[in-house]
Amino acid sequence: MQNRAAIAKKKFGQNFLRDEAVLAQIIQSMPDTPHRIAEIGPGLGDLTKYLVDVKSVTAFEVDTDLCKHLEHHFADAIATGALTLRCGDVLEHWKSELLDEPYDLVANLPYYIATNIILKALADPACRNLLVMIQREVAEKFSAAPGERAFGALSVIAQSAGETSIVLHVPPSAFEPAPKVDSAVLLIRKTANRNDTGFEEMLRAAFAQPRKTLYKNLSARCDGKTLAQAFESLELAPTVRPHQLSTSDYHRLYTLLH
Ligand code: SAM
Repeated sequence: MQNRAAIAKKKFGQNFLRDEAVLAQIIQSMPDTPHRIAEIGPGLGDLTKYLVDVKSVTAFEVDTDLCKHLEHHFADAIATGALTLRCGDVLEHWKSELLDEPYDLVANLPYYIATNIILKALADPACRNLLVMIQREVAEKFSAAPGERAFGALSVIAQSAGETSIVLHVPPSAFEPAPKVDSAVLLIRKTANRNDTGFEEMLRAAFAQPRKTLYKNLSARCDGKTLAQAFESLELAPTVRPHQLSTSDYHRLYTLLH
């Protein structure tokens, strides 16, 4: 397939990575584990061709035209079992576990569902690590430290499930067609699974109005006396803003409020 811009389908978030240096850096940043790789959205197979050289891969692609291309282009890897190709919407394949064995997710994700995919992978016990290209702004939300402007519920959720870092910033020119936004490669080394819906409900309330105080935000869903006692035992000022607490502060607060 030659003219990438002409074949790209906007509705599937298709921006094909063509910068070989970026592809090489993704491969170098992969966690050193024995796990299978799950790739979501192999597209034309630019990342897949490097992945199948180092690991067994299961790839999920929604676009039937691209699936045909991949079946043809990777016929040998499919025949040897190095690549398993699943055609269809990954969200329909994905029950509580995407694969029935431990896996690392390595992908240049479709940006329109990237946050949803990361949240599902954080909850999936079979998923052990994530190395994903996403919109830079979203990567910053997942990896922000307390006190930073981007620190919010996604940062706390990701940091409760593991260690997060941005390993690479990627300009639009690395893709064809070029996206309108900057991108970044986010690494999450999981140490736990996301599973506490009560905790996340508290986070949603805590960050509902980020410029207001945490106390004000939480008082919309908590009894005033319990909240005041929790603030006192954690030595939190009533004026503290939601982005000023750490992930462990939020866990302590949750324990006290429930
Ligand atoms: N990995 C390729 C690359 O780096 O050039 C393509 C990445 S492109 C940003 C996103 C890919 O995800 C496209 O191939 C698109 O068709 C695929 N995709 C979009 N939505 C999907 C879904 N729901 N399930 C599976 N694949 C999807």
